[in-house]
Amino acid sequence: MIKDRKLQRSEFIKFTGGLAFLLLGSKWLFADPTSAADLVSTAQKRQSYTLGLLKKLVTDIGPKPSGSKAYAKAARIVFQEMRRSMAKVNYDKYEFDNWEPIKWTNLLVGGQAIEAVPQKRGFGTSPQGINGIIAKRGTGFAILNEQNGDVLAYFSVNQYGKAIAGSGPGDLDKSVPVFGIGKQDIPLLDRSALNKLPAGISAEYHPLHKAPGINVIGQIPGKSKKEILVIAHLDTIFNTPGANDNTASVIVMLMLAHAASGRQNNHTLTFVASDSEEYVYEGAYHYAKGRIANNTIEDIRYVLNFDSLTYGPNLWINSKDQGVKDLIRDIHRDLKLQTTPIYSENDGFVMDSLPFRPSGAKALHANSRGYDEKTLPVYHRPDDTADKVPLDCVEIAFQVFDEFIRRIDKE
Ligand SMILES: [Zn+2]
Repeated sequence: MIKDRKLQRSEFIKFTGGLAFLLLGSKWLFADPTSAADLVSTAQKRQSYTLGLLKKLVTDIGPKPSGSKAYAKAARIVFQEMRRSMAKVNYDKYEFDNWEPIKWTNLLVGGQAIEAVPQKRGFGTSPQGINGIIAKRGTGFAILNEQNGDVLAYFSVNQYGKAIAGSGPGDLDKSVPVFGIGKQDIPLLDRSALNKLPAGISAEYHPLHKAPGINVIGQIPGKSKKEILVIAHLDTIFNTPGANDNTASVIVMLMLAHAASGRQNNHTLTFVASDSEEYVYEGAYHYAKGRIANNTIEDIRYVLNFDSLTYGPNLWINSKDQGVKDLIRDIHRDLKLQTTPIYSENDGFVMDSLPFRPSGAKALHANSRGYDEKTLPVYHRPDDTADKVPLDCVEIAFQVFDEFIRRIDKE
């Protein structure tokens, strides 16, 4: 107990010391809704805000997988950005067991090298790697033990383009190493499988116990405790800077917060930059569990989950709520937007919004399509870089959801 108290005291000193520094150093760190709203008040200003943050969060930081120092740095930047417009900004922290590939080889088939990317949180191989013969299996390929036909490694195919991190089929033994390959290599692998060519690959994983998970939560109090919650994941997978998935959507969310902070809102607005989405939504689950524990989950009346809003100008709206879809349609008409939203019957409670189902809120999950040739091939690839973000899609998403929040706030 005594030890705890000491700790609290030193934490307190650290905190107040930090506060003094902030007072001297960075005036803008204190919420200033008028200037924050002004920062995003025109399309031109929004574009320069977006470019500035894409540089900081994507170009300068690179991949920011959950649990990494790079992620923590990005979370600090988002915290500071939220502080521009919100007095109430918090880190919501948790710990999790993490393991990620740190190095791996190409897939070698009959002497030919084929790009392969290991699975996030998958299994590595021995240092000698895995050797056997290549075969077709399910929708992908496998390296088989030549004697007994056992699957030694599995290869999933990225239908959008080049190799991305692998994902194993459900029926696979969980300890089998999994890799992803690109669709351009299918013909070569088909021929190799027919000829039962020898194949080999290796991957090394790094375990990290008690890795830090960090959500960043900002809130704009409204007249009522009834709440609109917006969530966008800030983490990327290990091999991509994640400009389109999902940093640009986080930037859209920040701009919505700045814009809303300049208004008097009926609803309380909560903005969540979530961690660990690229795993099993641990960040969103952690935050939602906290809201269940303190009995505030039912305050949430709307959940808006933004994931990859910039694959094209046509927003892809998933919701079971017809009113939500009608509203998106009305907004496109009223703002005279020339884009064609895609409406899906899929549940709005999916991925990062899934943990908020107990709220009973109306839910919307938004993705996008339209520049598929340019944007989808970079999905989960090292070249999902800042220059790949179509800025018109950032602007369209901002306009639609700014109006959406204004209108549902009147309900
Ligand atoms: Zn994503």
